[in-house]
Amino acid sequence: MFADLHLHTNFSDGTYTPEELAAHAQRHGLCAIALTDHDTVEGCLRMALACGQAEMEFVPGAELTAELAGQELHLIGYYMDSANAKLLAELAKFQTVRQNRIREMVARLNKLNIPLEAAAVFAIANCRSPGRPHVGRALVQAGFCSNLDEAFDRFLKRNRPAWVPKSKISAVDAIALIHQAGGVAVMAHPGLNHNDDLIPPLVAGGLDGLECFHTKHSPTATERYLDFAHKHGLLVTGGSDCHGMNKGQPLIGSVKLPYHYVEALKSKANEVAQANNSIALALPPMPNPLHSAER
Ligand code: AMP
Ligand code: ZN
Ligand code: FE
Ligand code: FE
Repeated sequence: MFADLHLHTNFSDGTYTPEELAAHAQRHGLCAIALTDHDTVEGCLRMALACGQAEMEFVPGAELTAELAGQELHLIGYYMDSANAKLLAELAKFQTVRQNRIREMVARLNKLNIPLEAAAVFAIANCRSPGRPHVGRALVQAGFCSNLDEAFDRFLKRNRPAWVPKSKISAVDAIALIHQAGGVAVMAHPGLNHNDDLIPPLVAGGLDGLECFHTKHSPTATERYLDFAHKHGLLVTGGSDCHGMNKGQPLIGSVKLPYHYVEALKSKANEVAQANNSIALALPPMPNPLHSAER
């Protein structure tokens, strides 16, 4: 029994629809999958339905772009209430930031005499949470680059001419946002940050888990993060971070997380939801508007 808790669809910068992703997961024999699109939960409903049809367990999630000590890091919220008003309001802000950033990147490309239009990027993205891979795909489609890697190497990577920094939520605020929505907060792919000093402040800020298993973690990195998680009582998660056909070969199936980790994650989500409920019950009762109207 294996799971993959880090997957993207075309609701952000993946290429698969939720239905296609479910079909691939089923083919790889997975019993549970999470959807962790960037800064959105919009794909979760369709993903849940597709998983239901394929008799796979669905774990709702979103990968939030956050920041600590000037470094970008990614926090996954699992099992958040996808109707939570504060969560949805914050996600809408992140999405606006992403859309404005696309316009800014296109403006920079235009200054480099590359006549790409933002509308072409938005047409390819066809979602509220567009990102650099969509700009890259637009560059390839219009013939300005021969593939996505070239687009990133020449224009889109950090400090390349069309790269635009993204304003991000503070990591500690992101953890609180996830918790108030009843979710569990996990640091995604810590190995990609090349700075393990980021982890202790996150733990102090309420981090619940660490994505120890990830396609880009070496066996020694995986061991180091497993060790850290055990020492600090953190949950362990893992996933392929598959974006569909973005990188030529889909990554789904490359990380197979033993199912017992999903059970631990679910128990933690129940604890968070119960704690939120008891906070709500401890609040003074709302004043009755009818009663005050009588006076
Ligand atoms: P953004 O969220 O807009 O900053 O874009 C980040 C996304 O770009 C991540 O999901 C990465 O998977 C993707 N990415 C980063 N570098 C490359 C690359 N060289 N080729 C393709 N995709 C990339
Ligand atoms: Zn992505
Ligand atoms: Fe990520
Ligand atoms: Fe990801």
